[in-house]
Amino acid sequence: MHGNEPTGFEALLAFMAQGAPRNNWTLVPLVNPTGIDRFTRLTVDGVDLNRCARITGPEESDHLKSVLQRAPFELALNLHDQRSIFHPRGQSIPSTLSVLAPRALIQGKEFVPQRAKEWAGLLSQAVATLEPDWGYARFDDQYYPEAFGEWTQELGIPTVTVETGVSLGDYGRTNIARHLARALTVLDHTRKPLKEHAAGYEALNANESTGIDLLLESPSCQSFWRVVEEVQPELGYRWGIARYSPETSGSVVAYQRIFMESEAHLSLNARDFWTSSALYASASEGLRSFAVGLPR
Ligand SMILES: [Zn+2]
Repeated sequence: MHGNEPTGFEALLAFMAQGAPRNNWTLVPLVNPTGIDRFTRLTVDGVDLNRCARITGPEESDHLKSVLQRAPFELALNLHDQRSIFHPRGQSIPSTLSVLAPRALIQGKEFVPQRAKEWAGLLSQAVATLEPDWGYARFDDQYYPEAFGEWTQELGIPTVTVETGVSLGDYGRTNIARHLARALTVLDHTRKPLKEHAAGYEALNANESTGIDLLLESPSCQSFWRVVEEVQPELGYRWGIARYSPETSGSVVAYQRIFMESEAHLSLNARDFWTSSALYASASEGLRSFAVGLPR
């Protein structure tokens, strides 16, 4: 759906490679091919497809709607990626998997369908069983009527929005793609999720957006940096770290902290953006080991 969020696509490929599932699945690995070509959230026409659930057009979202209206589905999963700024409340690690059972407005009543909460809890638990040390969170379930999750929920299909994220040392999200595929197989082998799974969903920490990937400290100062993957006109596709200036250092949660000499810190501070290759080539030993975990 969002062209710069490819982990769901990778997970679906891995899921297909695991062999024939028990149930019938309808997979739509690419909803936004023009955005994928450009690595942009929006389509080539500047449209956010996840804001088009209640309107006619563009053709990408019309097609998705026709697929969803075709059969009495037991479950719908909407796969997205989240940025590394998200972390579970109270934890200083990125959210590697956040789930959301979106709200539905049916017959004038707003609520979150129980079955959707059960599936969301089961999916989160299936990944957490494989990687207990990752961050798991629950997105806030404010009602966004133009989004697909809400619309699908109101079609009567239990729906879970899935947001995959980075884990420390794996900013390319290879591991979560693999584990999400294995979790889909757990869902495939589950006839019905349980009440306990809904309780597990509700017990997940809230997803918060105050995370900072890197705190650099030297005797004279400290600086905050966020990992960025982006496409810039002229500069093209790049990975790197961008300086971030929080209002107060207490308002952010840093995942990793590196101490360095003042002189090296000063030369890093001379720029607002470092590509991961430049970081890897020029920096101190601590930074080099950080850069190893970033795609180049
Ligand atoms: Zn998205």
